[in-house]
Amino acid sequence: MRKKMAAANWKMNKTFSEAEDLLTEIVDLLEKTKIEKSEMIICPPFPYLEMALDFVSETDICLGAQNVSEYEKGAYTGEVSAEMLASMTLEYCIVGHSERRSYFRESNQQIAKKIEQLLKQSVSPIFCCGEPLEVRNEGKHFDLVKKQIEESLFFLNPADFSKIVIAYEPVWAIGTGVTATSEQAQEMHAFIRSLITGKYGAEIADDTTILYGGSCNAKNAKELFANPDVDGGLIGGASLVAADFVQIANSF
Ligand code: PEP
Repeated sequence: MRKKMAAANWKMNKTFSEAEDLLTEIVDLLEKTKIEKSEMIICPPFPYLEMALDFVSETDICLGAQNVSEYEKGAYTGEVSAEMLASMTLEYCIVGHSERRSYFRESNQQIAKKIEQLLKQSVSPIFCCGEPLEVRNEGKHFDLVKKQIEESLFFLNPADFSKIVIAYEPVWAIGTGVTATSEQAQEMHAFIRSLITGKYGAEIADDTTILYGGSCNAKNAKELFANPDVDGGLIGGASLVAADFVQIANSF
């Protein structure tokens, strides 16, 4: 179902007690400022998930993980399975983030396997795609995003595809302070929706949540989210400041 969403990607930040403080601040702020139009998702590091579940139990906040293994179970030291996430009642998991693609060499095919594992366990993937600067400068950004989506998502049947959230995150905008313009974001989101229409039809395309990510903050969120094909944001740096993240979630 298409939703307005603000999803926090904490990445590898915060100690345990700093994470508790941040969650306390967010929950306190939400008591004063109800989030009415959007769903708030927080994706802390793995070791904090259980603690975070306690914090959000009396709230409407959903939790997600930042990564998952492509394997089901067994001798994969250090990995975390989709079954483990589901057994903790997690609803979402980020997959294919550009940092995993570049630093950990994740391929579209590996990302597809992760998505399969998550869907088997009824955890919704937040699938990230987006082009590096050199690809945009060559004018090949649409081709690259099309390939990422085709190779990691278009093997899914329509029912499974409907459980995917897509996050368009131009790599040149992630953590750089350079945000895509409203026009650039809308153009790519409309393109992604047209790809989905071509594969699964207009109804499913219209029902797909497509988030923008890349230096989205409390100042620019409203303008970005006002675009017809931008359904919210995947937020990195600005999600580490409670007041900013809550303001972003209220920017619809
Ligand atoms: C991200 O890493 O998903 C992200 C969008 O980061 P930032 O908001 O810091 O650019």
